[in-house]
Amino acid sequence: MNRYQDIFNAQKANQFNVGNTTYKARIEKLKALKQAIAVDYKQRIREALYADFKKPFLETDLTEIYPVISEIKYVSSELKGWMARQKVDTPLQLLGSSSWIKYEPKGVCLIISPWNFPLNLTLGPLVSAIAAGNTVIIKPSELTPHTTQVMSELISELFPENEIALVKGEVDVSTELLKLPFNHIFFTGSPHVGKIVMQAAAKHLTSVTLELGGKSPAIITPSANLKTAAQRVAWGKFVNNGQTCIAPDYIYIEAGLKAEFIAEFKIAVQSFYDKAENSESYARIVNDKHFNRLKNYINQAQEDDATIELGGHTTDLDNFIEPTVISNLAEDSVLFQEEIFGPILPVKTYTDIHEVITYVNANEKPLALYIYGKDKKETQFIINNTRAGSTCINTNVLQYSNHYLPFGGSNNSGIGKAHGYFGFQEFSNMRSVLKQHTKGSIEFLFPPYTNFKQKLVD
Ligand code: NAD
Repeated sequence: MNRYQDIFNAQKANQFNVGNTTYKARIEKLKALKQAIAVDYKQRIREALYADFKKPFLETDLTEIYPVISEIKYVSSELKGWMARQKVDTPLQLLGSSSWIKYEPKGVCLIISPWNFPLNLTLGPLVSAIAAGNTVIIKPSELTPHTTQVMSELISELFPENEIALVKGEVDVSTELLKLPFNHIFFTGSPHVGKIVMQAAAKHLTSVTLELGGKSPAIITPSANLKTAAQRVAWGKFVNNGQTCIAPDYIYIEAGLKAEFIAEFKIAVQSFYDKAENSESYARIVNDKHFNRLKNYINQAQEDDATIELGGHTTDLDNFIEPTVISNLAEDSVLFQEEIFGPILPVKTYTDIHEVITYVNANEKPLALYIYGKDKKETQFIINNTRAGSTCINTNVLQYSNHYLPFGGSNNSGIGKAHGYFGFQEFSNMRSVLKQHTKGSIEFLFPPYTNFKQKLVD
C-alpha cells in the first residue's frame, strides 16, 4: 500500500469523528488557521511568495492572506445557521410528516491547487472543507515550492494527518492520488487538467468542483469612462503579473475609442510602476517555461507586424516581462487563441456590439466577462446574450472578494462554485430527511390495491 492510500485510509477511519463535530469545534479550527496565517506564519508566507515569483509583500497581503482571513471570518459568523437543520414544507399528501435538509460532510476530500495564488487557492477551499466537516488531503502546485513548504509546516502543526494532510509533489503524485475513491475533489487549474481530474473522478463517481480558466474579455463600450476603465483594467491585468484566472485576458473595444483608451492605459501603467523592471510593486513570471511561452507571444506578434502599443521588453534573468499592450493582431493570432496568463494585453476592436456577442459566443464560456459602460440597456443586452462564470460592470477581478457571490466558471471555465455558503454547499451533501409522526397518513394506500383505493387516487 502506498503512503497516499495509508493517509486516505486513516482519514476514512476518522471521518465520522471529524464530521460529527459541532459548529463551535469547527470554528475553533478555523480560528487556529486564521491565527497561523494572519500572525504566526505571516512574514514567512510573504517571504515564500517573494521567493517563488517576486510577489510584492503588499500584493501577498491583499490577494493571498486577506481573502482567506476574510473568508474565515465570514464562514465563522454564519456556520451555526448553515449547519442547522433546514426545515422544508411538506405537501398535503404527506400530511402527518415533517421534512428537513441536513447538510452532512461529503467525507474524505482532495484539494488540488495551482501555483498562481498558491496560498489563497489552497487554504480558501480548505476553509469550506473544514466548515463542512470533512477530512482533506491537499496537493499544492510544484511550481511554488517555497509557499508549499510553509503551508506544509503550518498544516502539520495545526492538524493531525488523519484529518488534514498536505502532500507535496508533481503530476505523478496527483495521478496516484486521483486513483483513490475520494468523496469529493476540489480542483483549481487549467481546463486541460480539469478534464483529467473529472475522468479520474468518474471511475468512483466522485463529485467534483472544477475551478478552471479561459479567456476573459473586457468589453469597452462607447459610454465608458475611459480613464477609469483604463486604470481598472491595468490593475486587474498586471496584479500578480497577469497570472490571475479572472484577469482581463483581452480588450474588446469600440474602434473609435481605441486611441484614447490606449493613451489613458499608458498613463495608468506609468503611474503604477514608473519603470516596471525596477518596481517593487511588480511581480515576475513563475518559471522559465511560462516566461518563454509569453516571450514567444510577443516575438510572434512582432513578426506578424502587429503594433506593440506599450512595453514588449523582456529580461531572461528574472523572468521579467514589461506591461505590454498589442493591437492590430490577426484574428488567428495565438494571443486570441490561448489563455495568456501573463502581463500581455491584446486589443481587438468592433464597430457593432453584435460582433462582440457573436465572437464571445463562438468561443468557450469565459470565467469572467467584464463590461465597461454607463449605458444600462447595452450592459444588460451584453449580459443577456452571452454566458460567463461571472461579470463585473465598470470594474474587474473584484467579484472574487465578495463572499456573498458564488465564485466559479461554467462548462469549460468550471463546474461548481466556491466561497462562503456556496463553498460550504460544495463540500456538503444535502441529505433529505422525512419523518412520519402519526399513524393513518399513507396506510390507506397499502396493498391490496382495491377498486376503492384506485378511485381515491383517480
Ligand atoms: P495546472 O492545471 O497545470 O495545474 C494545477 C494542479 O494540477 C497542480 O497542482 C498540478 O500539479 C496538477 N496537475 C498538473 N498536471 C496534472 C495531471 N496531468 N494530472 C493531475 N494533476 C495535474 O494549472 P496551473 O498552471 O497550476 O494554473 C493555471 C491555470 O489555472 C490557468 O488555466 C488558470 O486560469 C487556472 N486557474 C483557475 C482559477 C479559478 O479559480 N477558476 C484560479 C487560478 C487558476
